[in-house]
Amino acid sequence: MPEHGSAPLDALPPTASGSQVWAALGRAGLIAEVYRDGAAGTGVDPGRLAGLLGAVDARFSLAATLSASVQLATALPLLATGRTPVARQALERALSGRATLALAATDVTAGTDLTALRTEVRLDDDALEVTGEKNWIANTVTAEHFLVLARHRPGRHFTHFTWVLVPADAPGVTVRPADSALFADSGAGHVTFDRVRLGRDHVLGRTGFGLPLFARHIATERLAGAQWAVALCRRVLTDTHRHLAGRAHGDGTLWHLDAVRQRFAACLVRVRELHALVGALAKEVAEHHDTTAAATLKAAAGPTVQHVLTTCGQLWGAAGFATGGIQELRAQAALFGIGGGADEVVLGTLADAAESVLAGLAPPDTAR
Ligand SMILES: Cc1cc2nc3c(=O)[nH]c(=O)nc-3n(C[C@H](O)[C@H](O)[C@H](O)COP(=O)(O)OP(=O)(O)OC[C@H]3O[C@@H](n4cnc5c(N)ncnc54)[C@H](O)[C@@H]3O)c2cc1C
Repeated sequence: MPEHGSAPLDALPPTASGSQVWAALGRAGLIAEVYRDGAAGTGVDPGRLAGLLGAVDARFSLAATLSASVQLATALPLLATGRTPVARQALERALSGRATLALAATDVTAGTDLTALRTEVRLDDDALEVTGEKNWIANTVTAEHFLVLARHRPGRHFTHFTWVLVPADAPGVTVRPADSALFADSGAGHVTFDRVRLGRDHVLGRTGFGLPLFARHIATERLAGAQWAVALCRRVLTDTHRHLAGRAHGDGTLWHLDAVRQRFAACLVRVRELHALVGALAKEVAEHHDTTAAATLKAAAGPTVQHVLTTCGQLWGAAGFATGGIQELRAQAALFGIGGGADEVVLGTLADAAESVLAGLAPPDTAR
């Protein structure tokens, strides 16, 4: 993102919540700029997405950045698949920052076992009814609409799930904030749907296309997560380097201790690896929604963030425990290994594609 483009963000305090950041991004036209068609219909421009996530990460809390990331990468592109006037109007309001949008896939059941979800949609000829509960959803307490992944049939078959656009003020919708100081600024919470009746025009996309649509759009969230992870690690390493270089030790500073420099350098290697991986795979994910590439990015981002924040946390010593310090950030950043697909789940996806991944690593055949 060009420097002048981030000026609207500088007007906000660093303590701004996710919904405040979203409103500022929308007012400045920065949300629409992330998409190739300027309207979320044809997916993200990876360079612009990385630029915006980096700008938000540099200024606001991890929770506020999470709020923006989920919406930019997944919720808005998913909503843009809707063709009805209600979907179009909701998208317009989200693009302009006048409304936030929650993507409610995780249910009361294990999030890593998505096809076990219980939230149900009953479809009639001209109406539908949603009943169920979604837990740990970013933007819940501020959302104007929920994109709800529901089942229209019992069983786990991949065609049994459908997305429904549920207005937060519809009778039967109840939200409550998650009991989490770490993620309050993301608007994280739980939402229940008690026989919420809506017009059939609130079905998003085609009935039975819920899971394929989810797979397509969660891929972009995994790309966004890896881009954001690079920005976060770079920021933390920059701060840590400054801290070490300014902290007197013996005749020099902590930065002059070989053991410290080597641990720091190992972090640089990890971030450069992730950065290179993002560069190599971003187009595949952004333009082709490649699930293996997306899983690779997610599987690399979680452990990289954990390694860098744990190492830097140690190198900050007692100062790391200050309010708002690196140890707090480290606890929040553990989300990189869980949200949007736990490390173990994406490693499973990658293992499923082992043969094609290995084939892609073959050297060019120069023997002929
Ligand atoms: C702050 C925050 C914001 C969130 N925002 C959203 C949102 O906007 N929308 C949304 O839909 N969801 C959201 N989530 C939910 C998130 O996507 C889930 O937490 C995630 O999918 C994991 O599900 P779970 O927490 O139910 O973990 P569980 O399914 O209970 O799994 C717990 C742990 O068990 C282990 N495990 C699970 N399966 C396997 C396996 N196959 N092999 C080995 N180990 C395994 C892993 O270590 C895993 O972390 C959010 C969560 C948080 C904390």
